[in-house]
Amino acid sequence: KQAAYAELRDVEPFTRCGTRIQVMINAGLRDDMSALAMTGADGVGLFRTEFQFLVSATLPQRERQTRLYRDVLDAAGDKPVIFRTVDIGGDKAVPYLRDEAANMDENPAMGWRALRMALEREGLLKAQARALLEASAGRSLYVMFPMISEPWEFDAAKAVFDEQLDFLKVRKKILPESIRFGAMLEVPSLAEVIDILAPRLDFLSVGTNDLTQFLFAADRANPKLAERYDWLSPSILRFLNRLSNALVGQEVDLGICGEMGGRRLEALALLGLGFRRLSITPAAVGPIKELIRQVDLAEIGDAMNRWLVSPPADMRTELREWAAERGI
Ligand code: PEP
Ligand code: MG
Repeated sequence: KQAAYAELRDVEPFTRCGTRIQVMINAGLRDDMSALAMTGADGVGLFRTEFQFLVSATLPQRERQTRLYRDVLDAAGDKPVIFRTVDIGGDKAVPYLRDEAANMDENPAMGWRALRMALEREGLLKAQARALLEASAGRSLYVMFPMISEPWEFDAAKAVFDEQLDFLKVRKKILPESIRFGAMLEVPSLAEVIDILAPRLDFLSVGTNDLTQFLFAADRANPKLAERYDWLSPSILRFLNRLSNALVGQEVDLGICGEMGGRRLEALALLGLGFRRLSITPAAVGPIKELIRQVDLAEIGDAMNRWLVSPPADMRTELREWAAERGI
């Protein structure tokens, strides 16, 4: 099987009906970048910039951040890298950034984390913005903001980048060739107002790890709960379907970057719901490419529509049998 996946490295993931699906990888360290060439993925759909902070004993200064981002872009070559601004706090606490506000969190995952923290500790976000802009001089930059709950948070975060961009312009520095801004959808509240934010977004990436935790009110780190709630449950699938429908006709590139996209049956369901970009763990690229090549999008789309209206008692078994009947 491994050899078969290796052979798929240079094969582009077209569905059986001829649609090109973007298959990207999730990464967080310099060393992860070798997986791009190894898997033949289309780029990095989620670069978790907080990893540099988590492995560091002290706050990584701007120059160190710039160096990392430049190395990552060098390693990616022509392939896009979506940098997510720091998602610190919650389960990813760093001692040198602890704050009274974080100490008040009884539920850190729902607490003072990610952009909530970065927008208040403006120096942190400013430094990261400048590092990303400088590292991307003459190239494309993709920036994604985590844990957006309301549209104004996206605007405020983008404003920090705009300000740093102006700073570099005035000083006649080389700027990125293009900049695209996106949001992560991890907090259910954002889905209710996504039509309002969509015109301002270049792309949207659903973080199903956190989304599931908030939708079910179930701690993502607790294995007992992980067994209880299924990614293929009608609640999640209907949620994702409504989101995907809400973005039809909008120029927002919709993708997914949670672990869900790296599982075969889940990926099949996501394709049926209209998702065309999956960012997944590198080990899953081979199996998911293989799956994509066997899928007819209209066929799985029809099946999903039926199942969303009247969900089968066991969606997982239903999907598995549906796939098996078609030799998938
Ligand atoms: C997610 O929440 O689904 C996600 C991709 O981000 P992280 O796992 O880093 O929280
Ligand atoms: Mg998350």
